[in-house]
Amino acid sequence: MQILENTALKPFHTFGINCNARFLVTIESYTELISFLKTDWNNYPHRMILGGGSNVLFTGDYEGLILRPQIKGIELIEETSETVTVRAMCGEVWDEFVNYTVERGWGGLENLSQIPGNVGACPIQNIGAYGVEVKETIQWVECIELTTLNQVKFWNEECGFDYRNSVFKSSLKGKYLITAVVFKLQKSPALKTKYADVERELEKYEKVDVKSVRAAISAIRWRKLPDPLCIGNAGSFFKNPVISVPHYKEIQEDYPTVPGYPQADAGIKVPAAWLIENACYKGVREGDVGTSPTQPLVIVNYGDATGEEIITFARKIQKQIHEMFGVELEMEVNVV
Ligand SMILES: Cc1cc2nc3c(=O)[nH]c(=O)nc-3n(C[C@H](O)[C@H](O)[C@H](O)COP(=O)(O)OP(=O)(O)OC[C@H]3O[C@@H](n4cnc5c(N)ncnc54)[C@H](O)[C@@H]3O)c2cc1C
Repeated sequence: MQILENTALKPFHTFGINCNARFLVTIESYTELISFLKTDWNNYPHRMILGGGSNVLFTGDYEGLILRPQIKGIELIEETSETVTVRAMCGEVWDEFVNYTVERGWGGLENLSQIPGNVGACPIQNIGAYGVEVKETIQWVECIELTTLNQVKFWNEECGFDYRNSVFKSSLKGKYLITAVVFKLQKSPALKTKYADVERELEKYEKVDVKSVRAAISAIRWRKLPDPLCIGNAGSFFKNPVISVPHYKEIQEDYPTVPGYPQADAGIKVPAAWLIENACYKGVREGDVGTSPTQPLVIVNYGDATGEEIITFARKIQKQIHEMFGVELEMEVNVV
């Protein structure tokens, strides 16, 4: 374990911003992690945890310590005739873990294929895609409380999971380091394929099972989403807003085609991508910042954009959406 000084952050996050960390440490074992937290960790007034860096935007250099927990390991902790319970350590690459489960025919995570990042971050914003959220399979989350260093287990219902949110992204933000996540997966899963795109893609496969669902969703995502290895981005920059029914009807009067999805706890969810596209911000480029031409919800860095330029561009979109539709777009990305 080595604490690096004034290190470029470009290789450690997906937005491709040129910025530095004053100190950066990568930790690969649990014992090393505990010993580091007991000693060096307390010497730094500013500090943060970084996983795969696929949901952060650095607005400048980070003047503190960045800790990258890269602890690996997957363990089967219980098996019945119908289910498996599996623990994955925080440093496992999310999509490699999804592949591991799909290869064994275990169902539950296949719709979450190709989401970048590490297992440790999956509960933070309750990652979701194609009608599935990770909260549906998480049994518990194992953490270390960063001031007492107590090991704490959060059962699913204690995680405050919500749309792209949890206690780890809201009330308890920055207080815990997630060391492992435990999932319960199904041996005979009920597949969720009721998305027009997914149904169409699945027609190419002989049978519909966890493997073909993963393959279909991967193919759709590769077509639609810009690859961070080629063009910097952090996936969806904004959350899909939930608005009141009267507000939705008001928008519908001017824009009869506005999509809306009624939510169980009242309100209508409107796709932020639709709002951005109808505000004429799809595929717009200003300098090295822009919205993706294939998915306007994704803000991209065409090369040398700074974090400040990206935030300024994002705020312009928010302002435009507010003026046109009276809707507040909330950022999904963690701004640092
Ligand atoms: C191309 C692309 C597509 C994407 N598609 C989706 C999608 O379909 N659905 C979706 O939900 N998200 C999506 N994302 C967003 C992102 O991949 C997820 O949010 C992912 O879970 C972030 O993981 P990470 O390890 O990169 O976290 P990071 O970006 O490193 O960190 C995110 C936050 O979690 C904290 N954190 C990270 N690890 C830990 C830990 N072990 N303990 C405590 N705190 C921690 C960080 O401090 C930070 O606040 C996409 C991103 C990209 C680039």
